[in-house]
Amino acid sequence: MEKRTHILHKAQVNNNCPECYSAEGLEFIFSQEEVQNKLYSKANKEVIEILHCHTCDQDIYPVKWTEDIEQVYDYHRKLAKPKNSAIKLKPLAYLIILTDALIITAIIYYLW
Ligand SMILES: [Zn+2]
Repeated sequence: MEKRTHILHKAQVNNNCPECYSAEGLEFIFSQEEVQNKLYSKANKEVIEILHCHTCDQDIYPVKWTEDIEQVYDYHRKLAKPKNSAIKLKPLAYLIILTDALIITAIIYYLW
């Protein structure tokens, strides 16, 4: 299994950082993990939401958020559209299914 992280939406915001009070370092990052192997890929349902401050270089946890930050968060969360978390088959999986179908068809044909 291979894990990939897709960035869904990123936004620099000009709110003050609750830790260092800089208004230039905050960035929201919305991402989603996807696992995949040779046969299929599947995105995780959960969207990972991070507010990171580049000025003091730390993640700002929601308990520290001010009302202003929460408003900005609500806005940006809507822009982060999660990928469908259903299993997506890869061409190899279709090939195996198709091959199986052909073999079954051939067996039925010869038995008749
Ligand atoms: Zn900071």
